[in-house]
Amino acid sequence: MFDKFLTSSRTEKILTKSLDEPISVEEANYLMDIKGSDLYPLLATANYLREKIVGNDVTFINNCNINFTNICTIRCGFCAFGKDANDPDAYILDDDAILDKAYGAVKNGAHEFCVMGGVLPDADIEYYEHLLSLLKESFPNILIHGFSPTMIKDAAIVSGIDIEDAFKRLKAAGLDTLPGTAAEILTDRSRKLICPEKVTTQEWIDIVNIAHEVGIPGSATIMYGHVETLEERVEHIDIIRKMQEDGGKFTEFIPMTFMHEYSPIYLKGVNNLGASGTEDLKLYAVARLMLKDLIPNIQVSWVKMGFRFAQVSLIAGANDLGGTLGGDELSAASGAPDGVEASVDTLCNIVKNLDRNPIERNSKYTEFYPISFEQKMANKI
Ligand code: SF4
Repeated sequence: MFDKFLTSSRTEKILTKSLDEPISVEEANYLMDIKGSDLYPLLATANYLREKIVGNDVTFINNCNINFTNICTIRCGFCAFGKDANDPDAYILDDDAILDKAYGAVKNGAHEFCVMGGVLPDADIEYYEHLLSLLKESFPNILIHGFSPTMIKDAAIVSGIDIEDAFKRLKAAGLDTLPGTAAEILTDRSRKLICPEKVTTQEWIDIVNIAHEVGIPGSATIMYGHVETLEERVEHIDIIRKMQEDGGKFTEFIPMTFMHEYSPIYLKGVNNLGASGTEDLKLYAVARLMLKDLIPNIQVSWVKMGFRFAQVSLIAGANDLGGTLGGDELSAASGAPDGVEASVDTLCNIVKNLDRNPIERNSKYTEFYPISFEQKMANKI
């Protein structure tokens, strides 16, 4: 398949190998740094593997973000959302505001509440249990994708319990899946520069492993394009790969390109404008070659890249378009190029234009829903 391209022999050798087996870290490092016309066969290989592994369906979820607070004790260097408690723009949503938001989303066909926010000072496990019960009692059929390893660690400390007990209690209260947040880049060198107050690499691994062990699957993310090296991008994907090989329950892998414009580190003069377009494409393609069917779902983040580039990324190995979102305020604060809310029609048009099949899914990729209006009504929750 490579004879149509002007490809270097090393690239051709690695890509040929990738058709049968996952590539090594060293090979991934090489591909992450290729330039020029070698990019075409890399993308073609990733796209070929995507089709072989998951076919031509492009999934997405009708969901809504419930960002319950922007008060955050962690204050990451890349985040334009978190505020101090005494900031005039700081907020904590009360129960009525949360239920109003949830009701509006369900009326609009949502299958998931993505419950995220800042890390509140002194929030204990009861606080998070309350958020879950509040939503589950009113909307028992909607899956809750919520919280971060940093929040769970802090809440467990405040409540004087261990992480396993914390997850068992959250699962009992209604937590269905854990977002892959707080992963950023899983190397302590970069974490010390962008999020020194967050869980360490090993803590993130341990906490997520415990969530999976108690029956809470979830996503894996990578946020790239800030202070990390290309090798650290590969190191991160390899950590996720090893966790999954060891029995992990990742449902999807989500690359999130760094949005620099309003981030504190950029405003302080760290001169990084984020990843380039070809770096974004290489990240998707190399992730597909490393993860293959071990984590079959690779998601593009239209909210970070905009609709046009998200569509292009779907031909670089990805097969999922994320969510309709309904108000991702973390991305809004970072300057989301196409806003933070997409209609089902918009996402379907992106997919159909690629001659692929749009399919709605749930958070766990275990249920799939027809997308025509009539069918949606017939299947209404
Ligand atoms: S990314 Fe999350 S933990 Fe970090 S400052 Fe923003 S809200 Fe807080």
